[in-house]
Amino acid sequence: MNGDEKDHFDVVIAGAGPAGGQCARDLAARGYDVVLLETEAEEEFPRQSNKSTAGTFPSMMTAFGVPDRLVEKFTDSVVVESPNGHYKQPQPGAVLDFVAFKQWLVEDARDHGAEVRFESRVSAPITEDGEVVGVKYAGGEEVYGDVVVDATGPSAPLAKALDVSDLHRANQAIGIDYKLEGLDLDHEDYADLHGAMMLRLDHDIAPGGYSWIFHTGGDTAKVGVCYIQNERHEELARDGMRIDDYLDYWRETDPRFADAEPVEGAHILRGSAHIQMPGRLSTDNFMAVGDTVPTIDPLWGEGIHQGMESGRAAAITADHCLTLDTPDTSADRMSVYDDLWHERVAPDMQRRLLMTELLYLVPNERYDGFIRDLNRLAPETLTSASGGRFRSIARLLELGDLRYLAKIARNRLTDPYHRWNPLS
Ligand SMILES: Cc1cc2nc3c(=O)[nH]c(=O)nc-3n(C[C@H](O)[C@H](O)[C@H](O)COP(=O)(O)OP(=O)(O)OC[C@H]3O[C@@H](n4cnc5c(N)ncnc54)[C@H](O)[C@@H]3O)c2cc1C
Repeated sequence: MNGDEKDHFDVVIAGAGPAGGQCARDLAARGYDVVLLETEAEEEFPRQSNKSTAGTFPSMMTAFGVPDRLVEKFTDSVVVESPNGHYKQPQPGAVLDFVAFKQWLVEDARDHGAEVRFESRVSAPITEDGEVVGVKYAGGEEVYGDVVVDATGPSAPLAKALDVSDLHRANQAIGIDYKLEGLDLDHEDYADLHGAMMLRLDHDIAPGGYSWIFHTGGDTAKVGVCYIQNERHEELARDGMRIDDYLDYWRETDPRFADAEPVEGAHILRGSAHIQMPGRLSTDNFMAVGDTVPTIDPLWGEGIHQGMESGRAAAITADHCLTLDTPDTSADRMSVYDDLWHERVAPDMQRRLLMTELLYLVPNERYDGFIRDLNRLAPETLTSASGGRFRSIARLLELGDLRYLAKIARNRLTDPYHRWNPLS
């Protein structure tokens, strides 16, 4: 390249996670020149970004052509536990090998013609006349693009600098997870967790959040805890206990872990995501995808499928803007991405956020009642309530829940960070 020639691509994507990787796959497959910049080194990728339990469902596998060889364990049920009960729902699922999955996304993007640059930490946008035209990365490097996509997860260096991201610490959920062996997966006091993804609602173990056991074959499972570090967590948390202490406490007090040990080489995976309505999603020449937005489903923390959907929506938008005889990547035209996000990627986000807040606000006794109701009601109630259907949500609500709904409404009115309207 001579001094005047810029390193230029149709699309520059920062971050090779599910969202950025999928965006690169789709755009490269459509014949666009794409560069994917990833901060980690290729030899150990993914290391710090190996953060996900990676439970998913066939709908995601089919939509994105994910091969079965990336699945650690196909599951056939979802279990929801409360302190003294459980509800089991038959539902096919898959626990992915997240390392292999992330590597596959990169390989497949490359196979379609995308250029992938590792050890390329993106630090800031390059702007001209106030519009992003490229990014600075790996110290002093620069690369230019007609469209730039931030897919770096919650760090969001581009989205923050461009004032697109609206992430607030008060809405940040943290999670940890690691793989154990020697679990008693069919203990007499609990549901049979063979072939199950189990989520436990219990403030004693995850104050203001939830914990989980996802079976990964034999006597092994991925076990984790997550919660939002908000006022509610502070109210319920025990003095001085951090998230690692909660996971240790669960292991020490739950008989299913009596003989369980971390599998050889397993280390604790850590990560965070924001549980909130997004602000803006795009501007001139720019889109934010995945956990940068944030896109993760607030209720059950499913972020892989949603992240990939947002990566696809960004790819559709870039195509829509660049395919014209005279490409138009103005904010107005890029706003197609915002429409796709709200209509297809995360419809019903407001209602799901309300349900999430309600779910993590109620006390442990209410969780036992909730499980009793699920066992009593039609089998599809949980799926349909999770999908934000009003009638199913109403069936699960009790009169006593009104005081929690009132509290949420009060918080909304007094807290500027809670920008969604719970009653809409
Ligand atoms: C403990 C835990 C368990 C979870 N379990 C599940 C689950 O079971 N199922 C599920 O669907 N979801 C789960 N999630 C959520 C899911 O993992 C995320 O929502 C998903 O990974 C988000 O994808 P993403 O591509 O937006 O971001 P990320 O996965 O965060 O990927 C961002 C990428 O960008 C790179 N990067 C970061 N900064 C820079 C930079 N400055 N420059 C260049 N590259 C950068 C990172 O290294 C990474 O590769 C879990 C999350 C956690 C924390």
